[in-house]
Amino acid sequence: MSRVILVSSRLPVTIKRSRGQDGNGQTLTMSAGGLVTGLSPLHARSDGVWIGHPGEHPNASTLRQLEQQRLVPVDVPPRDYRNYYEGYSNSALWPLFHYFVERCEFDPAHYEAYRSVNERFADQVAKVAKPDDLIWVHDYQLMLLPEMLRSRIPQARIDFFLHIPFPSSETFRVLPQRSQILRGLLGADLIGVHTYEYAENLQRSFRRLLGIESNRGALRYSGRSVRIQALPIGIDTKEMRKAAFSNAAERYLLDLKRRIGDRQVVLGVDRLDYTKGLPLKLQAWRRLLAGSPAWRRRAMLIQIAVPSRENIGSYQQQKDEVERLVGEINGLYGAPGRIPIHYMYQSVSREELGALYRLADVALVSPVRDGLNLVAKEYVACRDDGGGVLALSEFAGAASELGESLRLNPWDIEGTAAQIERGLEMDFGERQERVRPMYHRVVQNDVHRWVERFMTALTEPEVEELRVPPQLQSTVLAETIGPHLATARSALLMLDYDGSLREFTERYEDALPTNEILEILTELGSLDGVSTYINSGRDRNTLGEWFKGVPVGLIAEHGSWIREVGESIWRRMGPPPDLSWKGVVRPVLTEYAERTPGARIEEKSAALVWHYREADDSLGEWQALELMSVLEDMLSGSPVEIRQQGVDKGRAFEHVSEAYGPFDFVLATGDDRTDEDIFARLPLDAYSVKIGGGQSSARAAVGSPGSVRRLLRALIAARRRVAVAQF
Ligand code: UDP
Repeated sequence: MSRVILVSSRLPVTIKRSRGQDGNGQTLTMSAGGLVTGLSPLHARSDGVWIGHPGEHPNASTLRQLEQQRLVPVDVPPRDYRNYYEGYSNSALWPLFHYFVERCEFDPAHYEAYRSVNERFADQVAKVAKPDDLIWVHDYQLMLLPEMLRSRIPQARIDFFLHIPFPSSETFRVLPQRSQILRGLLGADLIGVHTYEYAENLQRSFRRLLGIESNRGALRYSGRSVRIQALPIGIDTKEMRKAAFSNAAERYLLDLKRRIGDRQVVLGVDRLDYTKGLPLKLQAWRRLLAGSPAWRRRAMLIQIAVPSRENIGSYQQQKDEVERLVGEINGLYGAPGRIPIHYMYQSVSREELGALYRLADVALVSPVRDGLNLVAKEYVACRDDGGGVLALSEFAGAASELGESLRLNPWDIEGTAAQIERGLEMDFGERQERVRPMYHRVVQNDVHRWVERFMTALTEPEVEELRVPPQLQSTVLAETIGPHLATARSALLMLDYDGSLREFTERYEDALPTNEILEILTELGSLDGVSTYINSGRDRNTLGEWFKGVPVGLIAEHGSWIREVGESIWRRMGPPPDLSWKGVVRPVLTEYAERTPGARIEEKSAALVWHYREADDSLGEWQALELMSVLEDMLSGSPVEIRQQGVDKGRAFEHVSEAYGPFDFVLATGDDRTDEDIFARLPLDAYSVKIGGGQSSARAAVGSPGSVRRLLRALIAARRRVAVAQF
């Protein structure tokens, strides 16, 4: 393993002033937090260094201690640090990336400090980096760094992980320095984010703001390839459980239970940050109590508000608002010995936190925006007893992994109150059914696995280079391909249907073949020595019906079924499918279809398809992305069309080649991802044509289905001319 250089805004230790007995006036304490726990073993193993700001200027003795731990401090003048950290990082990037545009302060002096601090980091990294080192940069405070490092050490392996959301391109483009930030990131070889939504947002910003196209998380920039990967961070489950089940936690839990009696507990644990939606949470709690005197007696909310960024004005305002609401609700619904909200503006120990997780009937995690949210995962990790209910905002990145939680929209106060009530009333059976799968997922995908997955993503071979095939006129293409088809002894044409031969229609079932298409296919079918197949994702009944009497072979459902010319029976290709996954996936697809007007599910023999062409463009796409990430965790490596692995259009080509080949001329056409499967498997001398723009491994592209039809007509004519000449 190469040496890893970790770079984060703060070092994993903090220097504190002490009037200590050791006389040096400073002590070093290990910082808490998921990132530190996750990265520390990597730091220990890799023999590399960790570079970051130490919080205070280290004196000689502290410096020696840092050196022993292979921690390299970056020296930053305090004023620059303030403008970089409280200024640009936390008053511009943080609010913007969490969609709080109105809270953003875009002060050019803050950006200048951000740039210059990133430069200082770059100088420090360049000073210690060796040629084979792997440099892993963390988070939004250092987004210019990858590019700065790339210019200093062009051959280095540089990776970046963003721990907060990446916003929609509409929001991101508000940032005055948007291009600089994007170019800064592009210095990396791999950019990691928590969810597919963020990855998609980032790719869209590259496309819209810099004109850089990407495909399946890969793009080319300055002659290098850059990958973008969604990989949600995990927690240190072992450490969390150790604290939650420690003796201290047991004692604390017993004491809490004694004091609380039989009241049910709803728990909130949030940094006091406006992204956490605390006022909305309190309003939902107030709504529940207002509507139900019974809950005033039977339940309480324990809210830990961890102090945070107190030097920034907007945080102070948020604190004032939260405390006003707490007072108001307690005033309205409290009674002697019965306080509706137990509010603590303080940090608690891991043990106390673990005990609270074990105590709470409902964990109410309701941020209005959160990159991931570790509290949700920590709660689940402590609830293998099956007794806890997680109520989770759909605006937390973790929602895409924790699909069995009670989802809520924090802005919908009624809806949130209803979900809290549902959680409180949920019977043990359902609680268990929901929390168990989440528990296993959280344990399996812990922070160590996250590091491992990130590291292997880095060492995986480069993704196959994605290129954009040249777009040609159908007449030009016909001039190249025509002569080869004309003289071929045995030719094979595999034609995709929707979007390739036929234009899309608003409704999927309306895309019947036109007379022109039927005519072209009939003529192709009548050519001697030419085998033509429609190679489609559609189901067999539709294809059979639509192409009744047309003399071409039919392949249905992405290579699952084949019907030869003139035959009426369909034969299955490949082994009979294992369809057990359908039962798991169908309810999820149904839920998403219900939430997306215009979306629906199509059932195929070896596939389930989630259609969203009729849905509102952006909503459909958004839901599809989120759906993908939910399914990703249920089934490994599934695209939105979920089908059995090993059945695809490429396999269909192999099947036909084995049965009827060899062919000395092959042409395949297609317009979407499923067609890439066949393009990738074709022999080198085959022709492949992509319909539409974008990256593809096809050899050429044409603009539209109309061009494909013109091409086919020209090919038929070319073949006919030679046949007539031979005759
Ligand atoms: N936490 C803490 N002290 C506390 C309460 C919570 O250190 O008094 C931890 C909590 O266990 C979790 C982290 O703070 O690991 C909060 O992470 P999260 O992703 O939920 O939110 P963030 O603060 O990173 O926005």
